[in-house]
Amino acid sequence: MTDHTSRPDPSAPDGGSDPSAPDDGSVAPPTAPRGIPLVAVDHLAKSFGAHEVLKDISFTVEPGTVTCVIGPSGSGKTTLLRSLDALEIPDSGVVRIGDCTVDFGDIHPGPKGRLDRRTRELLATLRAKSGMVFQAHNLFAHKTVLQNLLEGPVVVQGEPVAQATERARRLLDEVGLSAHADKYPFQLSGGQQQRVGIARALALRPQVVLFDEPTSALDPELVGEVLGVMKTLAAEGWTMVVVTHELRFARQVADQVLFIDDGLVVERGTPDQVIGDPQQARTKAFLRRIMEPI
Ligand code: ADP
Ligand code: MG
Repeated sequence: MTDHTSRPDPSAPDGGSDPSAPDDGSVAPPTAPRGIPLVAVDHLAKSFGAHEVLKDISFTVEPGTVTCVIGPSGSGKTTLLRSLDALEIPDSGVVRIGDCTVDFGDIHPGPKGRLDRRTRELLATLRAKSGMVFQAHNLFAHKTVLQNLLEGPVVVQGEPVAQATERARRLLDEVGLSAHADKYPFQLSGGQQQRVGIARALALRPQVVLFDEPTSALDPELVGEVLGVMKTLAAEGWTMVVVTHELRFARQVADQVLFIDDGLVVERGTPDQVIGDPQQARTKAFLRRIMEPI
């Protein structure tokens, strides 16, 4: 069973933090209002041409919890995460993160995908609520580790350099990379690069951290160090949505598991339910393929 008792309560009587509020250099997860899902996805749908990639996706994420998303290749997992981060514009459905709600049914891109200013601002507000850790590290190769962590806060969010630097150093400490602040990505192992990717996502002070198969491009012996950092973040109370095939991680850390297939949430529940005792034939077949690949 997941140990919920070791997690700090992310709820706050003040109704939650404001990412734009003055920062004290803390790297603790933001607080969120008690008893309200931090993330709510309602009837999300997205097609690429005639291909309906997301058909009808709904779920909620409570603050301070970990949601693991599993499902076959091509089932729409990355598209779903990109939609939460407003990197993709779904055709319809609603995404709410914290106090920002976007009804994608109201968004009608013009020729060449053009959006009006109000829509662009709304999507930027949604995007600022989450931080994404990508499948393969995509750090700026010509910038140091520290500079990679400053890019978003300073250049995009306009945070003062001194304040952002202090937080970046604390984040590097958190992911065990203090000694590597002035190195370039090519001087680091794949696992270290992915830990920089995690610190970079946290540097944006997101309310929710999105992970897209963060260990799938790593050599097997490097997977543990990245999952270890993610476990620590979960224990600290970060709200996380993790696309992963690491079933042991999901069983140990997840509060809920979504099994997605063919653009639909086929099964949703605790890890013990979805992974330990799946009810749907498609979930059973998928888990069997993962656990017994040959
Ligand atoms: P998963 O992450 O579950 O493997 P994806 O969300 O990456 O699945 O992709 C789901 C489907 O959507 C795939 O068939 C993929 O080829 C297609 N797809 C994803 N992005 C695009 C795009 N920008 N244009 C066209 N098809 C896309
Ligand atoms: Mg994917």
